[in-house]
This record gives sequence, C-alpha cells and structure tokens, in this order.
Amino acid sequence: PADSADPANVQMEVFVRVRPLNARELATGSKTILRVETKTALVFDPTEDSEPFFFRGTAQKTRDLNKRVNKNMLFEFNRVFDETSTNEEVFEQTMKKVVKPVLEGYNSSVFAYGATGAGKTYTMLGTSDNPGIAYRTIVELLSQVEQLDGWRVTLGASYLEVHNENVKDLIHPASGKLQLREEGGHVLVSGLRVETIRSADQLFSLLAKGNTNRTQHATETNAESSRSHAVFQVHVRMEHVMNQVRLSKLSMIDLAGSERGSVTGYEGEHFKEGSNINKSLLALGNCINALAGGQKHVPYRDSNLTRILKDSLGGNCRTMMIANISPASSALETTYKTLNYATRARSI
Ligand code: ADP
Ligand code: MG
Repeated sequence: PADSADPANVQMEVFVRVRPLNARELATGSKTILRVETKTALVFDPTEDSEPFFFRGTAQKTRDLNKRVNKNMLFEFNRVFDETSTNEEVFEQTMKKVVKPVLEGYNSSVFAYGATGAGKTYTMLGTSDNPGIAYRTIVELLSQVEQLDGWRVTLGASYLEVHNENVKDLIHPASGKLQLREEGGHVLVSGLRVETIRSADQLFSLLAKGNTNRTQHATETNAESSRSHAVFQVHVRMEHVMNQVRLSKLSMIDLAGSERGSVTGYEGEHFKEGSNINKSLLALGNCINALAGGQKHVPYRDSNLTRILKDSLGGNCRTMMIANISPASSALETTYKTLNYATRARSI
C-alpha cells in the first residue's frame, strides 16, 4: 500500500550544528548556552559550575535536573557539529555517505531544520567561497559517476518552493503555481522543469539563482526571515548496457524557519502564511515521528511538502536531518525547541 513503510528499513540520522555567535549577539553580550561535550553529545543550558557530563568515558545522566535553575540537559545525536565546524566537515559526515546508495537506486533526503538565522541556508547553500553541502554533494556525485563502468548516467536538477502550501518552480518562476498530481502511487509536480546537470559550477549558479526567487518577507523579528521550504532535487537516471534502468532521487530541503508564526506578530494574510508553514513543518514532524516510531500509517497527505517528499522519506530511503541552532542565550527558547524536535526525530 502506498501509505505504508517497512519500519525495519527506515534509516534516519539526526545531526545538530551549532553556529558561532554573530556580531549582534556578541555586541549585546549574549552568552553561550550550549556546551558541546563530545562528537555526539551536547549540554543545553549548563549550570555554570557543572562538571562535564562525561568523565572516564561514562555519561552521568542521573543528576537531579529539577533542583537546578538551569536546565543542564544532555542531548545526544548521531553527530554534533560545534561552532568551529566547516561546511566541508558537515558534508563529509552527512551527505557524502548517501551518494553511493543513490547511485545504487535508493532515494535519499536531507533536511536543514531550525529557526530563522540558525544557519540552514549557510549549511545547505553556503557561499561561492564556502559552498554548502548541496554543491559538495553534486561534486561527489559527478565524481562517482565518472568512475562507474557500463552505465550511462543522466543527472537532472529541479528546485521548487513550498510557500503557503503553493508550489513554485524556483528556477522558472514564470511557470506560476504548480499542481501536484498522483500517478500510480507517485506524486508528481506538474510543470516542474528538470535541468540537465553537466557540471557542479553550473549547478551552483542554478541554486543561487533559484534562491533569489525564494519568497521572503521582512518580519518584525528578523528582516531575513524565510517562510518558505526550498526543495532542491537531483534526479538520477542510469542506463546499463544490458538494458537495465535505475531511477533515483536525492532531495535537499532548506526548511522554513521553525519559529512559531504567533511570536512574530503577524496579522491578516501573514497570519495565514504562518499557520500554513506550521502545517508543513507539523506534517513533516508527524511523518518523521511515525516512521521513527515504526507506525504503519505515515501521514504524507497532510501537507504539500510531505506529499512531494513521499518517495524520499521512509521505506528504503536514507533520511538525514541537520538541526541548526544558535548558541546565544537570547535564542534559548527556540534552540530548546529545535533540540526537542530533533530528539523526537531520532527516537527510532
Ligand atoms: P537560516 O537560513 O537558518 O535563516 P542563515 O544560514 O541565513 O540562517 O544564517 C544566518 C547568518 O548566520 C548568515 O549571515 C550566515 O552567514 C551566518 N552563519 C550561519 N551559520 C554559520 C556558520 N556555521 N558559520 C559562520 N556563519 C554562519
Ligand atoms: Mg535561510
């Protein structure tokens, strides 16, 4: 059945990336409310004089958290990247691993999750001097394709946005509002154009161009707030000399800011916008939780984002989430929420 996944095959990895304090946070005297303990653990809101949670290789988890003013909570993930981590390092530990399975015919997806300003776009897209993991993934993909024998490989790329539950082609914005169509259990985005990829550089300019077409609004809390989900997909078609054909898809998603619409003081049209973004993030969270908990029913149909990603979430797909957080005391609340969301995604 279309809506079921074999829980035994679900592969979900959750990573956390802490960005450095920014100039504004430093200028306003924000303190760091995180302590990265190991490659896989961090302490959120540590008490100032607390000892490290880890000594002699043993985690001390039995503290009485309720008696403390600070939360002093230990969080563990597949990997925690601290303030000094580079996009190269993040790529090496995350998407690099999925390139081979993609060329073996498995779909894969990676999500950048987190509040606005936490570093999602920096991680996914990066800059031309310091490309993010999307670009690095393509470089790796192209290099592995070159080493393949006996396969003719065609790579295509599409880049779409889900904003206010509307789907738009970011590379060809003139196409207008795109409709989703179901065909043989698959969800297709009607009219979405797939560009043939020949080089990584061509791809980077496509991504950068697409990004300028993302819908953005100035908000009261952050002028660069992004309320849209950007879905970048690489479509791989492999033809073997023996007539065998493999199709797979690699999806990289820069999610909308996870902060709640209500805290930014929206009204009218903007309020609707905010609640729809919550709807997509909520649906994604529910799908991930259903998959992580081994539930038979996964509510893909609850939002356009999850419908589009249905064939890239669960089943035999490798799924990764990179939760981006700010270490600043001023972001305490949103960072805590992100850590909890990421923890729930991890509980397989
Ligand atoms: P988001 O996409 O989550 O809203 P951005 O990726 O745009 O956040 O990051 C916000 C700001 O912080 C940007 O100016 C970005 O360059 C900077 N930034 C984010 N992550 C890092 C990092 N790991 N190292 C250095 N600067 C970062
Ligand atoms: Mg962004």
